Amino acid sequence: MTAEKRARRIIAVGSGKGGVGKSTLSANLAVAMARLGRKVGLVDADIYGPSQARLLSTEGRTPEASDSKMHPVQSPFGVPLLSMGHLVQPGQAIAWRGPMVGNALNQLMDAHWGDAEIIVVDLPPGTGDIQLTMLQKHKPAGAVIVSTPQDLALMDATRAISLFEQGQIPLIGMVENMAGYICPHCGEESDPFGVGGAQAAAMTMNLPFLGRVPLDIQIRRESDAGHPVAAGDGPQAEAYLNIARAVLA
Ligand code: ADP
Repeated sequence: MTAEKRARRIIAVGSGKGGVGKSTLSANLAVAMARLGRKVGLVDADIYGPSQARLLSTEGRTPEASDSKMHPVQSPFGVPLLSMGHLVQPGQAIAWRGPMVGNALNQLMDAHWGDAEIIVVDLPPGTGDIQLTMLQKHKPAGAVIVSTPQDLALMDATRAISLFEQGQIPLIGMVENMAGYICPHCGEESDPFGVGGAQAAAMTMNLPFLGRVPLDIQIRRESDAGHPVAAGDGPQAEAYLNIARAVLA
């Protein structure tokens, strides 16, 4: 292992199930860390369902390669990244078995990351081959767990937590996503998924609570358009900056 690689901190972002906002958090966390002055790269380890090329406005860009390694694609937000989304056409199905998926992950991880001090890794949901390769071969310095306040998502999050514990990966803490909804029309606040469930669960499990992000239509709209809200100056950006500060603390 080179000194450069040893000094690099891999931060894995995981969740027990899909659709809880893990990719959105990974993208915004990386952008927020870059805004805080960190040299940070992003790996989209969701090999079967990549989304980071879209989230960081790099769709259609193909990574260059030298010495049999890829060069990360530069995004407009100060975060270089690599995703299968840069290697296959949007919507193209990837039907690979475990070993090929592991190889693909290794190529994304072992790319020319240059002076990146932190690599944020957007893991696929669940506890399969990709997670095992990530934990055993790349040994993240820590893991961030995302959950909605729903009980079911929390039960799934518990499974993701035990995966990291079994792999002896330190848990940095938990983020509660989609907590509380502010109606864009009347401003009324409601709680479609409840509020505080992830925070309570984090306390029960003795995990640091890293912060919460409300269910906010602007986050969804801007994400779909490839503009991570963490790059902007609204309260959404502040929420992600605070989470980034907590992760880096
Ligand atoms: P996952 O990676 O866990 O599958 P995504 O990050 O792809 O989840 O998010 C699923 C959907 O929810 C996306 O359409 C995304 O834009 C949206 N989303 C994520 N977080 C929020 C939020 N805090 N408010 C509103 N929409 C969100």
